[in-house]
Amino acid sequence: MKSQRLHIAIQKSGRLAEKSLDLIRAAGFRLTRSAGDLAYSVENAPIDLWCVRDDDIPTFVADGVADFGIVGRNVLAERADGANDDGLVEVMPLGFGRCRLCIAAPEGFVYDGARGLNGLRVATTYPNLLRRFLKARRLDADIVTMRGAVEVAPRLKLAEAICDLVSTGATLDANGLEAFETILESEAVLVRGAGDLAPELRRAADSVVARFKGVVASQGAKYVMMNAPRAALPEIIEILPGAEAPTVTPLAGRDDAVAVHAVCQESVFWETLEALKATGASAILVLPIEKMM
Ligand code: ATP
Ligand code: ZN
Repeated sequence: MKSQRLHIAIQKSGRLAEKSLDLIRAAGFRLTRSAGDLAYSVENAPIDLWCVRDDDIPTFVADGVADFGIVGRNVLAERADGANDDGLVEVMPLGFGRCRLCIAAPEGFVYDGARGLNGLRVATTYPNLLRRFLKARRLDADIVTMRGAVEVAPRLKLAEAICDLVSTGATLDANGLEAFETILESEAVLVRGAGDLAPELRRAADSVVARFKGVVASQGAKYVMMNAPRAALPEIIEILPGAEAPTVTPLAGRDDAVAVHAVCQESVFWETLEALKATGASAILVLPIEKMM
């Protein structure tokens, strides 16, 4: 009989491991370890987590061994390859593990657009993504596939350029390399398989997706309140960053002024408050949002 619990595959250790657990906890799921460090069980929902190598996550999900996975878009994209389409679906981006897959070369390399790669050797752990990029640009470069430590390839004369993940750029700097071109923007994503879920797992699955959406949406979002001249409303709506239609309520005994409440999806800076103040708004409050759904 198939398991009555929903399974989510996450990275066991590495850049996404802790943040995946943080997200799951922020979604209100209480975790206890089981099976040593290989799994967690959620106490307050029928969900288990499996901790595996990130490269294995797409396979787990594609085979239906796990119902969801949390993995870098780069790993999914490297695997999805037309002929071998396993129907994995990116459900939502998760807002952490951001990085770019870049073409980089030693500082001083004269990069005359991507066509400068013609005839060169490019080292990477992402041969499929690189091959697709080269094909789309009709470029003819040799792909040197490595298992890791791609950044040393130019020094070892294995390749003239590399195609590797970059987040802060510190690794490139430390190796005297410079990024010239981005071929993929990546972050951690929630992925699911192509098939339908067993009916008894759907509730748990819906709750995972809705709660994750809430956590991701509330990160950085703020609740903004103020009193404002009624006439300044259009201007205020213009200024509020990433707000949907704000709530406008009357103020007792004042026909010319209203209270404005809005959820702002983007950061609210001091400059924003100054701009609001300049429209005549007063008593401006910016509050953190704990949960959102
Ligand atoms: P595993 O042992 O699970 O195979 P790994 O060494 O392949 O781990 P990590 O280095 O932990 O993987 O990276 C996991 C993911 O983190 C990457 O696939 C990518 O989506 C993301 N990431 C974010 N920033 C970077 C970066 N600067 N370099 C590499 N990966 C990054
Ligand atoms: Zn890996």
